[in-house]
Amino acid sequence: MMHRSEGERGLFEPEPPRAVRWIARTLEEAGYETWTVGGAIRDALLGAPSEDWDLATRAKPAEVQRLFKRTIPVGIDHGTVGVLSKDGVLYEVTTFRRDIETTGRHAVVEFADSLDEDLARRDFTINAVAWHPLNKVLHDPFEGRADLGRRVLRTVGEPRARFAEDYLRVLRGLRFAGTFRFTIEASTWHALVAAVTHTRILSPERVREEMERILQSPEPSRALGLYAASGALAQLYPELDGLVGRRRDLVRTRSGGLDARDDWYAHSLRVIDLLSPERPTLRWAALLQGVGHEGSVAAILERLRSSNARIRDVAAVSPSAATLPDPDASEESLRRLLSAAGRVSLRTMTRLWIANLRADEACGSRPDQGRFVTTCRRLRRIARSDVPLAVSELAISGRDLIGLGYEPGPRFGEVLEHLLDRTLADPTLNRNEALREEAVRWMSQQDRPTGAGRSGLPQPGASEASETL
Ligand code: ATP
Ligand code: MG
Repeated sequence: MMHRSEGERGLFEPEPPRAVRWIARTLEEAGYETWTVGGAIRDALLGAPSEDWDLATRAKPAEVQRLFKRTIPVGIDHGTVGVLSKDGVLYEVTTFRRDIETTGRHAVVEFADSLDEDLARRDFTINAVAWHPLNKVLHDPFEGRADLGRRVLRTVGEPRARFAEDYLRVLRGLRFAGTFRFTIEASTWHALVAAVTHTRILSPERVREEMERILQSPEPSRALGLYAASGALAQLYPELDGLVGRRRDLVRTRSGGLDARDDWYAHSLRVIDLLSPERPTLRWAALLQGVGHEGSVAAILERLRSSNARIRDVAAVSPSAATLPDPDASEESLRRLLSAAGRVSLRTMTRLWIANLRADEACGSRPDQGRFVTTCRRLRRIARSDVPLAVSELAISGRDLIGLGYEPGPRFGEVLEHLLDRTLADPTLNRNEALREEAVRWMSQQDRPTGAGRSGLPQPGASEASETL
């Protein structure tokens, strides 16, 4: 159902960049109707600064390319041409479109003649608002402005059908409702929950991009709470869904007792909110901090096709993020902690620990900050010292091993790991000669046949033995 509305002139006067008016004027003067649409208009109506000003036009991509000197074919198949303005910003100019076929994952589109058709294929009423940057007219056939005023999220058209066209809208809906603190209109919510199982067919990249956008928002906890409430979390992030309702003891209080109990997921969300939106690594690490060890954190990020750098950085710090270093820890265990996360990760980890502390404080816990600060100082001292914390920092290298007459191979990595392990226990060992001696000792021990245990075959009785443990 489409509510036709005449263009509205009102108090609403967003201020698009000059380049937006220049692009619109150029197209209009060539005879092509052109509007600004989508997120920028929504944000302006909300009184928030608009970021990406997208334009929709009746001109076909070839005509847009002809009219502007500097263009980039960013999505020419979908009708999108990037127009580069004088100030170096790329504006997306997209030809009016309509869907001719949808699969739940993507749509086949064709060019349409009217703005109304173009707005009708958009996901939510608040995103289906257009504003003419020259006539300063608002075109709002689905009453998105009223929904923005009531702070309600509603699909354009019949919710079930609209989610089935592209299940990413389920996640977009949760994000918009969460980040804008909107309520989801009842029939939209019911259809969204019913559609949640289908989000599994979405490409991992799109799922990840949605999460990235949530984590870049000021207060991700609401959208992430809606992920849990709608069932999307269970579908897409079962490891995180396992944290919902899992009891977590708060940090020890000054008196040594434990404070109130808390849910792991809720705690992690509080931690995320306390971290800067500009630090995605920290927020990812906090999101995944209850999941477990490095391997399982990395597995989730790999499944989402995250970049190698992101996987490396998050997996290094996430597993130790929620566990504050023990103030009574020995120097050796602090060295081992730093070695596992990497010397360079200390600042990141400290930020995460502080956010975890604050989140607990917000729940009434009174952690002993003085001792925490002292432990952090000890860690910093170790990180700055020349005590080796990585294989590459040892006073021995593969070259030395070759010098000792060993053939390069996987054994090299193992012996170096062993030497690091020994040096972490006793840093005075980090002298070339001492390490070479230890290397020779270890190698000869490895070469000595020690029966079934070293042949790689299971030792008889091993499984029974472990079962009785
Ligand atoms: P953000 O502020 O996060 O960028 P946005 O609304 O601008 O939000 P974009 O992904 O930039 O989101 O998309 C621009 C516009 O394109 C949206 O406002 C919406 O009108 C339309 N749109 C985007 N994705 C979809 C989709 N999956 N289904 C329908 N319409 C969509
Ligand atoms: Mg946008």
